[in-house]
Amino acid sequence: MEQWEEKLSCAIVCNRCNGALKSTDQRILSVYDHEPICMSCKTEEENREDYESVSRNAIGSCMADTELQYGDPRGYCFHHFYPFTCK
Ligand SMILES: [Zn+2]
Repeated sequence: MEQWEEKLSCAIVCNRCNGALKSTDQRILSVYDHEPICMSCKTEEENREDYESVSRNAIGSCMADTELQYGDPRGYCFHHFYPFTCK
């Protein structure tokens, strides 16, 4: 149940552009599909027209969607807004 952190934070490729992610590279979760993506894809995501409304709803819907799936929905959901690296 707590393996999401390792799985997501240690993804070795960006799910959007397939670019390689080194363990020290910052990555962040997409507010659209909850996949780990690189920071340049995040910047592109922020330029999407619906980003503002999607991101505004992301925490609430994320908490609801992931509560059963993940032990720590709060930590998981915050990864959509704070870049992180593989620990
Ligand atoms: Zn990318």
